[in-house]
Amino acid sequence: MIEIKPIEELRDCNGKIIIAGPCSAESESQIFETALQLSNIGIKYFRAGIWKPRTRPSTFEGIGESGLMWLKQIKEMTGMKVTTEVAKPEHVEKALNAGVDILWIGARTTASPFAMQEIANSLKGTDTPVLVKNPINPDIELWIGALERLSLAGIKRVAAIHRGFSTYGDTKYRNTPIWEIAAELHSMIPQLPILCDPSHIGGSRELILPISQKAMNGIYSGLFIESHCNPGKALSDNKQQITPVELSEILKNLNINL
Ligand code: PEP
Ligand code: MN
Repeated sequence: MIEIKPIEELRDCNGKIIIAGPCSAESESQIFETALQLSNIGIKYFRAGIWKPRTRPSTFEGIGESGLMWLKQIKEMTGMKVTTEVAKPEHVEKALNAGVDILWIGARTTASPFAMQEIANSLKGTDTPVLVKNPINPDIELWIGALERLSLAGIKRVAAIHRGFSTYGDTKYRNTPIWEIAAELHSMIPQLPILCDPSHIGGSRELILPISQKAMNGIYSGLFIESHCNPGKALSDNKQQITPVELSEILKNLNINL
């Protein structure tokens, strides 16, 4: 039995949680411009990857530790809470030292019990909120196992993120959503908030609205969306990022059921 405590801070757009920001922190100008534009459209939670788990080497692997200072400044400047991905204890320690409010676990890390256990151990004694993406493969046990490891380490303020699952060959989606798995997780742990990540599910800008709407019609507590001030120039995931203005339009057009 996993004990879940609410992440009180997480509520905004019409009672739904909206977390937005670039796939990666790239440069001072890119991250500050994106953050200011998102803050101006009312976003309260800012995401940015500092350490990027890239499928292939020799692609942009994140700006690294130096980007944490930017997140700290964005917090101070805008009042937004900030979140970044952690994949090992060293990331946890550095992110918490820099004042990162919320951590997230990426899909490749959720799929690795050893990595999850090390992260959980490194969080012992803190009350850090953690968002856990589904593992890349459609295995609900791995997803629950990751949540249990955090719970056993005393981390109760957790939420899940459905970001779709890997499949072989070309499909409409970059990572196919399996709504049934998230629904099963919800029925097993009803008090666990589940967010939807339409960016990594869709892999393209056009799919962000329909996937977000589908999530808002269902059991989801909110959205985790990639937004970049100049998406075409993004160093990672450039086909799926939208501008803050486009995000604002999408949020206005969404029919949100409370
Ligand atoms: C991300 O959110 O940028 C990311 C790397 O996501 P995922 O772990 O879902 O691939
Ligand atoms: Mn990404």
